[in-house]
Amino acid sequence: MLRKLLGKVEDGRFCRAMAGLQAGWEFEVRSRKFAKTGVEIDGFVKYSGKKYSVHIRPGKAFCNCEDFMRRQVLCKHVAFVAMAELALYAAERSAHRQVQEVLPT
Ligand SMILES: [Zn+2]
Repeated sequence: MLRKLLGKVEDGRFCRAMAGLQAGWEFEVRSRKFAKTGVEIDGFVKYSGKKYSVHIRPGKAFCNCEDFMRRQVLCKHVAFVAMAELALYAAERSAHRQVQEVLPT
């Protein structure tokens, strides 16, 4: 589902998200829930004093940055969260662990 989402991100934004991964952008997860249809993720993308709120649901995504709000396109923050999550799942799989659900308190 996250790979499918990434497939819908335009090339330039996809590359900027990759650069963010490389530059050490942070994803602070607030909630991660594995539903039957896919993962539901809420959290913040943080870098150089900026902070954006990102929400991903099966079949849709939201970010409060200007790019997303004005153009209604999947932005680099949504792409970054999808990449960071996929990287985490891959790392946990190779360590034979399960990714934990994080539920808001
Ligand atoms: Zn954004």
